[in-house]
Order: sequence, then structure tokens, then C-alpha cells
Amino acid sequence: MNLSDDIVYLKGVGPSKAKILASELDIHTAADLLYYFPFRYIDRSVMSTVKTLTDDNYVVLRGKVNNMQTTATGKHRERLTVDFYDGTGHLQLVWFAGTKWVREKLKPNVEYLVMGKPSVFNGDWQMTHPEIEAYSYVDEGARHRFMPVYNTTEKMKQHGLGTKALARLTETLIANITPVPESLPDSILAKYRLVSLHKALCNIHFPDSQELLDQARLRLKFDELFFMQLDYQYAHSERQQHSHGRVFPTVGNHFNRFYKEKIPFPLTGAQKRVIREIREDMRSGRQMNRLLQGDVGSGKTLVALMCMLLALDNGCQACLMAPTEILASQHYYTFLRMLDGLGISVELLTGSLRTSEKKRIKQQLADGTIQLLIGTHALIEDDVHFHDLGLVVIDEQHRFGVEQRAKLWTKSAIPPHILVMTATPIPRTLAMTVYGDLDCSIIDELPPGRHPVRTLHRTEPNRPLVFHFLKQQIDAGRQIYIVYPLIHESEKMDLKDLEDGLEMVQNYFPRPQYQTSMVHGQLTADEKAFEMDRFKQGKTHIMVATTVIEVGVDVPNATVMVIENAERFGLSQLHQLRGRVGRGAEQSYCILMTKDNLVGSARDRIRTMCSTTDGFQIAEADLRLRGPGDMQGLQQSGMLDLHIASIVDDEPIVRASRDEVHDLLANDPELTQYPVLQHYLAQSKNKMLWGKIS
Ligand code: ADP
Ligand code: MG
Repeated sequence: MNLSDDIVYLKGVGPSKAKILASELDIHTAADLLYYFPFRYIDRSVMSTVKTLTDDNYVVLRGKVNNMQTTATGKHRERLTVDFYDGTGHLQLVWFAGTKWVREKLKPNVEYLVMGKPSVFNGDWQMTHPEIEAYSYVDEGARHRFMPVYNTTEKMKQHGLGTKALARLTETLIANITPVPESLPDSILAKYRLVSLHKALCNIHFPDSQELLDQARLRLKFDELFFMQLDYQYAHSERQQHSHGRVFPTVGNHFNRFYKEKIPFPLTGAQKRVIREIREDMRSGRQMNRLLQGDVGSGKTLVALMCMLLALDNGCQACLMAPTEILASQHYYTFLRMLDGLGISVELLTGSLRTSEKKRIKQQLADGTIQLLIGTHALIEDDVHFHDLGLVVIDEQHRFGVEQRAKLWTKSAIPPHILVMTATPIPRTLAMTVYGDLDCSIIDELPPGRHPVRTLHRTEPNRPLVFHFLKQQIDAGRQIYIVYPLIHESEKMDLKDLEDGLEMVQNYFPRPQYQTSMVHGQLTADEKAFEMDRFKQGKTHIMVATTVIEVGVDVPNATVMVIENAERFGLSQLHQLRGRVGRGAEQSYCILMTKDNLVGSARDRIRTMCSTTDGFQIAEADLRLRGPGDMQGLQQSGMLDLHIASIVDDEPIVRASRDEVHDLLANDPELTQYPVLQHYLAQSKNKMLWGKIS
């Protein structure tokens, strides 16, 4: 059988099973099945007994079931408990879902293998939603020490495609498949002592030893990361060679006058370095694709502004795209203020403008009257045409999807230079992978005179003290944020929480002595702007808000950020929120209010927040705690569909594969010595995407 053959022709499959494999697991060909890896193995040599259970590690037990009991726990809901006995002791198996199917399947006097994590409940061992297989399965596979366990769905099980059946099909496939051609160059195989691809693919399913399994894993992880890097880096080098960018040779009047007359403070060393890097790009003749990383408050906006002035100096327009209207208008007013008197035409384009205004702006963009445009997604609508767009800055990039960025290409005959600014730093491994084809600049220095924000963890009983402290701060002339998480599905209910919070705050801080603002997602853009403005101008002392204020909002006089239900926020969000304070010369505070007795990752997050203010450290911790699938922005990017490798655990392999690809392309940009890799690139679906975007 060949890799590309339809799976329906595999012995034991047939049309109806093929259909299930396709709909449930997206398996269509022999290769798809071969690449459907077990997520776990049963090690036949390590079987546990109930009597010797000690902790909650994953175990495999062998025994019989008895005494099934169903208890209703609600409308259409029930709990199924089953007694399991292995000759040394009893364990209760518990199901809350799929109970009907379990009830039908389990029979007394049959030996089962039960797999899962046991726990102690009311003094007895129990196991919730165990995996369970008839023991004969393991017997059949006696020639393999490790039996593969595959993820399967209820529907598959009902159609005779449980893990046992999948293993059998895979075994048949491996026995009949033509050898899988080698994908990596010999030199790399030798250097990292990698086993052949064919061997790895066989052993990932049926390893006869831990060592063989480890070798198979290493090889397949390397493959996966290597080819991902090849996609990114090839696209990158292609662009460097072939895509022409505008050349911005001039540092002209706009830039120079701003620098001499307007700049509100000396640039930090890091800001200077980054501006130099960007300038180099923009006069190189290649199109810039640069990621600008810097912690919250590191001064990315000023860098963006100065780069935009460079574009203007070279006769082009520039635009800045922000994720929310609040941010866009904030940037707009910052720019107006900083550019005052320089005779530069700056405009703001957002969705909530009047139609006539939009029309005027679009008109003036097209004829080149407007030099600098700030806006939201409204910027990338189809009917927005620039006269000559030279630079696009995307602020807080993660909220913009890939396609949205791609749209920018259509805005100009020669693609504009792109500068992407991230809201929070990105862990190194992620930067190497997800942004593998962007050049990266890092602002690793905060403006002088900043005190790190002091972060405190408090619970409800401390509230009077917390409010007392807030009062002292306000009386000393400072301002306060109090932020509530989005808890409910419905915005109305969240609003209720917010309003309750507001009431509590206003009880403690009575008007007219204390003034309070409230901002949330249900206000119109105008209402939000109005409230933000009052707060900014110091007319209100306390800003009660949902996370709409999360990114970018800049009020230097605000010194305390209180985060309610802080355990409900992710790390990067907490860090973003904390970044709203500590922007002036005064000592600032972030107070994390949580319920008592935090456990698990919530506790880890709060601890991390209290122990560091370094955005890079926080990003690393976030990645470790949540895994890349949950990282902000990555779900929508869809760029990290890793099959077997892990960005968290396999950093050395990420590094090695990146370096190898880099060296290959440096020595042989078209890979003429490597027909297999060339062939891969020709086929790669990612190529188009990455060639065009970012
Ligand atoms: P972020 O990188 O989070 O976008 P901002 O660009 O909003 O940071 O800058 C944060 C604050 O620091 C702003 O109030 C800005 O005016 C100020 N700032 C920026 N650069 C400097 C500098 N070189 N010296 C002093 N303050 C600066
Ligand atoms: Mg910013």
C-alpha cells in the first residue's frame, strides 16, 4: 500500500468505516492513519494493583466490574458508578457523561484494563471517566511491550473503531506499506542521530522498548519543527530576495524637526537602537516585516511615530492600526499633541464616524492630502484607498488576524513596510516559531525614573484596608482603576457585576468629593471616549471598568490598579492591566483581589504576578501554565497546529531545527542539492500564506 492510497482500501476498513474515519478524525489516506499517533501507551510490564495505589499518578489496573448503579443528578443527567475489583482491593469507577454507552458495554465476569488517575473520595479509591478496555486486547498484542492508546470519539466506538480497532488497522497498515521515503538530509540525520522516518513512524505506534519510543518521538518532533521552520524561513528568504520594498533613503524635515523641537523626552538607548534597526530595513530596498517587542510602558508608540515620520519624509503616507476605538483615538490625540505645529495632516478613521466624515477622509486619503492615518479595522475596509501607503504600524498585534494583515497588501502597488508591535512580550520559543519569518526588534529598557509597580495579593476580608489605602492615594492627588473581569456569557450580567461594584465603590467614595467613571463594552464609542477623557483630565478619581481598558490606555497620574476576581484573568491580561499604572514618577500599586484558598494554576498565576514585573518572564510562565494552544492570539492564528512536538517542552529541538534550516538556506537558497525539500516546498500549503503575509 502507498502513503497516498485511500484508506478505504486498507484491509479491515471498507466504505462505512472509511466514512467514520474521515468525518471523525479527518483521516482519508494511508498517510493520515500512519500519522495519527497514540496519545499514550500501556506498558504491559508495569501494571498496578488497587492495594498498592499511592497517589494520583496515571495507572493501569486489571480486574472485573460489578454492581452498576445509576443516580439521577438532574434533568437528563445521571451519574454511573461501577465497582471494580482486581483481587487486591476495590475501586469505584464513575461516569457523568456517556453513561448509556458504558452501561451497555460493561459486562460482569470479563477482565478489563482500567486506565486513569485514581483519587481518594470519602476515604475510598475512585476513578472518574477511566479509559477501559477488555483485557484480551493486551493479550493479543503480547508481542509488543507498549500497547498504543488512541484518542477516539463516542461515535467511533459505536462503529467498532475504538482504540483497539485503530491499533489493529495501523498494524495492518504498517505490515503492508511501502517504505516511507526519507525526508531529511543525511547530514542532519547523522548529526542528531535520528532514526529513519520509516522506522520512527512504525515505532511511534508499536515500540518494543522505551528507547525505541524515545527515538521515534525525537525523530518525528524534529521533522515537524524542521518543516515548519522550512516554510517560514523559505518564505522569508524568498521575500528578501524577490520582493521589492520602497526605499526610504531620506531623513528629512519631519523627522528632524520633531527630533529637535518636539520630542518630549530623550529616547532611551533601546528606543534609539530599535529606530536604527527599522531605518536600516526601510532603506535596504527590501520590504520590512518587523516585529517590535517591548514590555508594557517601554515606549513603543514614540518609536512608531518616529518611523512614520520617516515614511512621510520620503513622500509616502503612513498608517497606524489599533485594536479598539479607545486606543485608536488615544493614539490620535497623542499624535496631534506631539506633532502640533509641524504642519502634518493627521486623521482618525474609525467605524463610528459619521458617513460624511468617512467619505471626506477616504477622499483625502486617496488624493494624498492626509499624510498620517490612525484607525481601527475600518482602515482595512475595501473602499479605503491610499494615495501612496509606505508604512503600516499594527499596534497590539494579537487582535488582528492573519487575513486582516494580508488585506493591507492590496492597499498599495508596492507592498508597504510593516511594523507589528506586540502588546506583551512573546516567549522566545514562540517567537522562533509563530513569528519565525519576521525580523525582531526588542525594547529591553524602560524609560528612566520608573519604579517597578508593587503587586499585592488581597482577599475580601482585606477590603476595608484596601479601600482605605485607595482613599489615601486619591487624597494625595492620584487616580485609581478598578477592573472587573468578563465572567458571564451575557454582557448584561457582566454589566450587573460592574454596576454592583460601582455602587460599592460609590458608597465608600461618596460624591461630590469623589468622582467615578465607568467604562464597559456596551457604551458607544462616544460615551467611552467621554468617560476616558474625564478620567484622563483628572475630573474623575476612580475608573471602574471591564477589560476594555486593557491595552494601551495611558494615564500617568493613575497609580493604583485594583483587579477584582483576579483569579479569573490570564497572566498576560493581568500583566497588561498592571501596565496601565507605573507610567508616571510616583510609586504605583497593583492589587489583586481574589477569593480565599486559591488552588492550581490560579494560585500560580497570582504568585507569578506578585514575584515579577518582567514581561518576558511572565510570558514564559504563561506559556508553561497554559500551553501554546491557549496563548492569546494563537487560537485565531491557527499557525501552531503542532501534532507531536511541544513548544513548551521541546525548546532545544525548536532551536536545532531552526538553526539547521537557517544553515541550509544560507548555503543553498533554492535548495538545489535537496530535491526532497524542494518537492516539499512546492507542495506546502503554508507556502502561499507565508509568502504573502507578515
Ligand atoms: P507601550 O510600549 O506600552 O506602548 P507607550 O508608548 O504607551 O508604551 O509609552 C508609555 C509611557 O512612557 C508614555 O507615557 C510615554 O509618553 C512615555 N515614554 C515613552 N518613551 C519615553 C522616554 N524615552 N522617556 C520617558 N518617557 C517615555
Ligand atoms: Mg502601546
